[in-house]
Amino acid sequence: MARRRRIYEGKAKVMFEGPEPGTLVQYFKDDATAFNNQKKGTITGKGVLNNRISEYLMLRLAEIGVPTHFMRRLNMREQLVREVEIVPIEVVVRNVVAGSMAKRFAIAEGTPLPRSVVEYYYKSDELGDPLVSEEHITAFGWATPQDIDDMLAMSLRINDFLTGLFLGVGLKLVDFKLEYGRLYEESGEMRIVLADEISPDNCRLWDVKTNEKMDKDRFRRDLGKVEEAYQEVARRLGILPEGGPGDLKGSESMQ
Ligand code: ADP
Ligand code: UDP
Repeated sequence: MARRRRIYEGKAKVMFEGPEPGTLVQYFKDDATAFNNQKKGTITGKGVLNNRISEYLMLRLAEIGVPTHFMRRLNMREQLVREVEIVPIEVVVRNVVAGSMAKRFAIAEGTPLPRSVVEYYYKSDELGDPLVSEEHITAFGWATPQDIDDMLAMSLRINDFLTGLFLGVGLKLVDFKLEYGRLYEESGEMRIVLADEISPDNCRLWDVKTNEKMDKDRFRRDLGKVEEAYQEVARRLGILPEGGPGDLKGSESMQ
């Protein structure tokens, strides 16, 4: 197969030109970073698991009518997605206080929030993804009020759905980050769709009974058993790769 053109290499994924115009191949790496790139490492098998987990969650979301960029999984580490114009905003939804919110307001991690809280961060590695308000987003032209309405409504719906889905497998969805993009239809119409990935890299998932962390915090905070936690999330969702954990290195289909 001809070598695909590499469009962008990020911290966790590589984006390649897809087979059709308007498509991209999203390759999931095992690389892990935290604290705005200051901590770097590898989580063996992470790319294979996140490819599966994100495929599964995007498909479940599509079933309830959430528009996503996901088209199909190609192999152990790659999926075909629609190319979108990424809105440079990270939408974070929180159900329980943790991470930067615990720090910012000096509230104990694990405190339940009386209602879900949505926050926006400007996607900029140089600035360390600063927290921004809707005013900043519209004033600086990162998104329109309509885009924000769409992203907010979708994020709350995704939160309700995923909270139930994870609760069904004994996991508490503490918080998570979403990215959206503008998809231009042939008709010239534009709609906002869910993009990037949903995986333990960008969700906090705690075991319902023990509160054990089953996500990237195990890497950020050196808690050990990082690979095992990602595997356990996939196992509970019923989607461990066919070959079982032994198969996690996956075929290196990066071309
Ligand atoms: P980062 O850029 O933060 O290091 P990744 O390693 O996950 O993140 O790289 C994936 C990049 O691809 C991100 O910048 C993300 O916004 C972008 N992206 C995700 N989905 C799409 C898509 N469907 N079309 C275009 N870009 C996308
Ligand atoms: N998150 C993410 N990418 C980021 C920042 C945060 O995926 O660049 C996710 C993170 O995994 C968590 C949620 O968003 O599930 C809230 O993260 P927080 O603001 O607490 O930041 P952290 O302390 O994790 O950096």
